[in-house]
Amino acid sequence: MITGKNYIGNTLSANGVVTYQTLNPKLNTPNPTSFVEATSEEIDLAVALASQAFDAYQNISGDKRSAFLHAIADEIEALGDTLVETYMSETGLPEGRAKGERGRTLGQLRMFGDLVKTEDWRNPTISGEANELRQYLIPLGPVVVFGASNFPLAYSTAGGDTASALAAGCPVIVKSHPMHAGTGELVASAIQKAAQNTEMPKGVFSNLNSAGIEVGVQLVKHPMVKAVGFTGSIRGGRALYDLASQRDEPIPVFAEMGSINPVIITQKALEARASEIAQTYANSITLGVGQFCTNPGLILGIKSAELTIFINDLGEKTAAIDAHCMLHPNIHTAYEKNGEAVINQPDARVVAVHQGEIEENYAQAKISTVSGDAFLKNPKLHQEVFGPFSLVVQCDDDNQLLQIISQLEGQLTGTILAEKEDYKDLSPLVERLQNRVGRIIFNGVPTGVAVVDAMTHGGPYPASTDSRFTAVGNQAIKRWVRLFSYQGFPEELLPGFLK
Ligand code: NAP
Repeated sequence: MITGKNYIGNTLSANGVVTYQTLNPKLNTPNPTSFVEATSEEIDLAVALASQAFDAYQNISGDKRSAFLHAIADEIEALGDTLVETYMSETGLPEGRAKGERGRTLGQLRMFGDLVKTEDWRNPTISGEANELRQYLIPLGPVVVFGASNFPLAYSTAGGDTASALAAGCPVIVKSHPMHAGTGELVASAIQKAAQNTEMPKGVFSNLNSAGIEVGVQLVKHPMVKAVGFTGSIRGGRALYDLASQRDEPIPVFAEMGSINPVIITQKALEARASEIAQTYANSITLGVGQFCTNPGLILGIKSAELTIFINDLGEKTAAIDAHCMLHPNIHTAYEKNGEAVINQPDARVVAVHQGEIEENYAQAKISTVSGDAFLKNPKLHQEVFGPFSLVVQCDDDNQLLQIISQLEGQLTGTILAEKEDYKDLSPLVERLQNRVGRIIFNGVPTGVAVVDAMTHGGPYPASTDSRFTAVGNQAIKRWVRLFSYQGFPEELLPGFLK
């Protein structure tokens, strides 16, 4: 049941007076539950409980933490249709997407559950004279998690950040996303059930409601909080990063933020399969109404007759795809505004816009184009337009293309579409791109982020605030731990796996 209250440890609490409702973007009407924002005292209590819980939780065996993570997945699964319906009513996203994202969320929880069953992930290392030094990874302490609006399950309450932090031995306090507070509360109730059934310390998890930025700001400034996980906009992530670094004790903020995900198409690829690429990319640009951090927002090619045909074809194919509802009126307004800001730059030209009847909060997909020269000179053309939008840049030659790539801000992904005959000439492109992105995709699309060991989901700033880590896959656990060494310790005092 959705109560609108905060979960502070295993207690439901609603002492505040600030209330808010989520919105059904398809109907453009508020959902019924009134959510009560956490008060300053409730925030303090949640953090104090997390800090107390850390003493016990960091020493709980991997086996037990694993059982906890598996139990969370089982309890979320047991929420059944209620979760799917709530998700749909708060996001306007279809049932298939809700179920797919739920599957991904369960998979992540179970993956981290399996990872921490043994202590190998802590990388135990023994060296020095007479093996006197023994090193392993230990958890940082209470972690605050901010989820993104566009992934109410997989990057939110029990998403990758929460799952990896709990796996590492860190209690978690979630600052609930106001756009999907009901989905968040249902998931929080599942985590609480799992915590109680597997006898986890009280305070190992809390979920705090908030309508504005105040709750998040207090959490990040709280001296007992030791790290922050964030998925969302560059503006939000940067604000929290700055706040955390101004504390008396600065703490790490692992923010995964916006990206325009450049795609480079070679002339030979255009000659061989321009029409196929146009269809594949029309689908990728409009997937999830373009509301993915890996959405291909920038396409680069060298000026040619084939590129002109491709641009027009991509425009037509994108405009022909049915319009869909965006997550929220604010995101829809930002899409329109940011799209206009790019299109209205000198030299930019709209190629095609989805035509036909558009309902409230539905996005009109757009393709626009600009010259390489204009793109190089104007950073406003480099901004993320979060939604079904892509800008095709027509470069003068290979040199200009490489220059543009060097000038790009850090990105989550880069994609190269090329033919076998291109391989011998691709090294300079790969090298440039490698220094700007976290992952290069070859002859594919950037949308779709597999949750597997070798996945890198991160990249140079502003794709993320720390390019040394990934937010997806097993390695994401490394964000919540630090290296620690025992020196000269007697065997009896060492943890079992370091003996
Ligand atoms: P958002 O507006 O940045 O919000 C994310 C969360 O941070 C919300 O809970 C928000 O609270 C909070 N927040 C934002 N600014 C804050 C501040 N100054 N102080 C304290 N808290 C603050 O982002 P969104 O709309 O949810 O997500 C869309 C964006 O996420 C897109 O730019 C997309 O590219 C990016 N994204 C990135 C990834 C990735 O993995 N890199 C994945 C998905 C999405 P309030 O809502 O209460 O203000």
